[in-house]
Amino acid sequence: MLLESPVAFRTFAAVAVGRLHSPNPKVNSNTTVARKPDPSTIASTARARWRTVLALGPAIVVLILGALMFDGIRRARESRALVTHTRDVIERALSTLSALQDAETGERGFIITGEPRYLEPYDNGVKALQTDTTILRALTRDNPAQQKRIDSLDVLILERMGLLATGVELRRAAGLDSASTIVRSGRGKQLMDAVRVQLAEVMASERALLEKRQATEVGHDRVVTLILGIGTLAAVILSLMLNGMLLRSATTEARLSREVESRNTQLEEQNLELEMQSQQLQEQATELEMQNEELQATSEALADQATELQMQTEQLESTVRALDAETQSAEAARAAAEVANRAKSDFLATMSHELRTPLNAIAGYAQLMQLGVPEPVPPAHHEYLTRIQQSQRHLLGVINSVLNFARIEAGSVIYDMADVSIAMLLAEVEPLVAPQMQARGHDYACLPCDPTLVVRADPDKVRQVLLNLLSNAIKFTPPGGQITLSAEGLVDDPSEKFAAIRVRDTGLGIPADKLNSIFDPFVQVDTSRNRVAEGTGLGLAISRELARGMGGDLVVESAVGVGSTFTVTLPRVQPVIAPISSTVDSGTSVSS
Ligand code: ADP
Repeated sequence: MLLESPVAFRTFAAVAVGRLHSPNPKVNSNTTVARKPDPSTIASTARARWRTVLALGPAIVVLILGALMFDGIRRARESRALVTHTRDVIERALSTLSALQDAETGERGFIITGEPRYLEPYDNGVKALQTDTTILRALTRDNPAQQKRIDSLDVLILERMGLLATGVELRRAAGLDSASTIVRSGRGKQLMDAVRVQLAEVMASERALLEKRQATEVGHDRVVTLILGIGTLAAVILSLMLNGMLLRSATTEARLSREVESRNTQLEEQNLELEMQSQQLQEQATELEMQNEELQATSEALADQATELQMQTEQLESTVRALDAETQSAEAARAAAEVANRAKSDFLATMSHELRTPLNAIAGYAQLMQLGVPEPVPPAHHEYLTRIQQSQRHLLGVINSVLNFARIEAGSVIYDMADVSIAMLLAEVEPLVAPQMQARGHDYACLPCDPTLVVRADPDKVRQVLLNLLSNAIKFTPPGGQITLSAEGLVDDPSEKFAAIRVRDTGLGIPADKLNSIFDPFVQVDTSRNRVAEGTGLGLAISRELARGMGGDLVVESAVGVGSTFTVTLPRVQPVIAPISSTVDSGTSVSS
């Protein structure tokens, strides 16, 4: 186990270091790019090397101690074997002496008694003696000194055995006395003493060897015990050291394992996230593919449309070219029209001057003639003079209307805008039309209106428009009809930014198909020679342009045989009562 520990330690250290430096083993296992080792890697490698040395050191120590102990045990075993061997020699020497004594005892018993049963110990002793001497020689063959003693001993034993055999043979053959002669000779005793001396020397030598060998054995036992003690101590220390190292390594491995586990968890989470992202990407890819297909279809449709557009563009270009040409011609026509318009305005101005001068002269002379200057005219001529004056006024009115319209068309009308009280304006208009109403027998009513109703307008222009509308109402309403003038704020308008002035009559009414065209210049509903009223067809055109010029409008509602209602709308302002001038500019007044 101790020898296996460094290997295990090296293995797990290598794995741990490998894991530490490769958080993603999958990635590193396939990585073949040579990288420059960083300092932390070098330090880790050095630590691993030291750990290996530390792990191998104890193994070597243990190995040496083991070898020493093995050698000590071997030596002790050898010493013990030698001790045993020595003891065997001693025992065998004693056994030899004992066998010789047995043989001597049996021979003496037989000599004394003559009974064969005493030969049994003699025979056994002889046999044992042969065996013992053979073994003794074998046991001491590596000891020349002992071999020498054994040689001497063998001679003595042989002689003693021969003497014993002679005694036995004499007893059998010659009887007790002959045999006793041998015993009494004392040679037997001498030989036994010599044998004892030789055996004592052999045993003494062996005992000396035994002492030495026992001392060696004790020494070897002590060495073995010492080595065993040192080995045990070293093993304990090394075990503790290794245990500490293994514990540290286990702690490190556990920490690394935890790190690897947390990294694995992170990687798993990242993997999951990546999988989700991959799935999303796949879905997006599918969606994109569909969109791509749609786009392709759209692209094809667009290409078709582009072709069509190209054609249309070409058509448009040709149209534009045609329009350019037309615009150029229209521009030329407009320039020509402007020239013509200027010429017309010049013409009208000139003509009005040229016409009004003789007309004023005609009026002046007719008046003088009516007054009898330089002399009275016959009474019958007064009626002619009255008709001349009426015609002159009519012609002057026509000329004024034409001039007004020409000015509006040319955009040369100037609006003198002010806050105008509608109630005051209506009050001012009434006396101007009252005589005509009375002459025609109309029932006229000016309805009371909100005195705070104020509009932003040119008061003269508003008055001109109202006189024109009232004049039309008088003209196109049969005698006895009803004419009503009223004003109000427009409640329909959520911001109430407009005020409306209405002129209502119960006259002829206007056909529906003429309701728009009557605002065009020189348009009249009745163009027959025997129409009910005179006029130029310019009054409504002028009135609507003036109303629009002040930010308002002029509209009509009418039914034939029922009557008409003309409504002027004007921008309303907060009620500020402001006095307005009552003067009427004859130059801008409109009269049909
Ligand atoms: P004039 O009154 O000089 O003909 P206007 O422009 O004022 O010109 O009116 C144009 C025509 O609109 C009139 O000729 C008439 O036929 C019609 N008209 C205008 N006011 C009324 C009205 N109150 N009732 C019926 N018809 C009207």
